[in-house]
Amino acid sequence: RTTLRLDKVLTHMGYGSRSEIKKYVKQGLIMVNDIRVKDSGLHVHPETDMILIDGEQVIYKEFVYVMLHKPPGVVSATEDNRDRTVLDLLAPELLAFEPFPVGRLDKDTEGLLLLTNDGKLSHELLSPKRHVPKTYLALVSGDVNGEDIEQFAKGVTLDDGYVTLPGELVILEQERQGDEVQSRIELTIHEGKFHQVKRMFESVGKKVIYLKRLRMGNLNLDASLKLGEYRELTDDELGLLQ
Ligand code: URA
Repeated sequence: RTTLRLDKVLTHMGYGSRSEIKKYVKQGLIMVNDIRVKDSGLHVHPETDMILIDGEQVIYKEFVYVMLHKPPGVVSATEDNRDRTVLDLLAPELLAFEPFPVGRLDKDTEGLLLLTNDGKLSHELLSPKRHVPKTYLALVSGDVNGEDIEQFAKGVTLDDGYVTLPGELVILEQERQGDEVQSRIELTIHEGKFHQVKRMFESVGKKVIYLKRLRMGNLNLDASLKLGEYRELTDDELGLLQ
């Protein structure tokens, strides 16, 4: 098993900067396997060594997996000059893991967004080869009908000439808004082109006016999370993604 520097382990777990860890060591606050640590550069086995900081055991983990109910108005990026990002919604303890969003939702799109520091899993979920399905709920202005279902099932041509993979469209409800019809639908797609859902509806002459992601692979958005709320994935949920 590999070893890591103690200060690296503790900064990763959100216990402070390297110089703060050094200070804790000086103050005699850190024990490893019942021995008081003298050097913050000590190499430890983070998974198996018993690390205590001021008497509190450090339960090490390398990766963090967060399900966020993304609200509209924040961007799916790690930094942005103008807008708030999804990272601004997370607590500092989680930011210590340096998570990043797995793929993107548009600024005005809400719903399921996964954040992790596990590059391998992220890569697998986004790989064009894997075709991991994503299901969206949308409100569309116009009368979404059986013809659209057929078109989407065949694949539609986007404005740049790209022909989409088959998508599964389900019409949930149609509402009359004055002299306009709005359709509530669910659409499952197996790829993630830029603005894909919006552009698929544009290709059939309709406009998405509200968009929410409900599901990615086998992972459902936890309906008890309010907009802007998040939680770590359970082990079962993580298993569903792998
Ligand atoms: N399709 C879109 O058009 N926007 C999103 O945010 C996600 C899928």
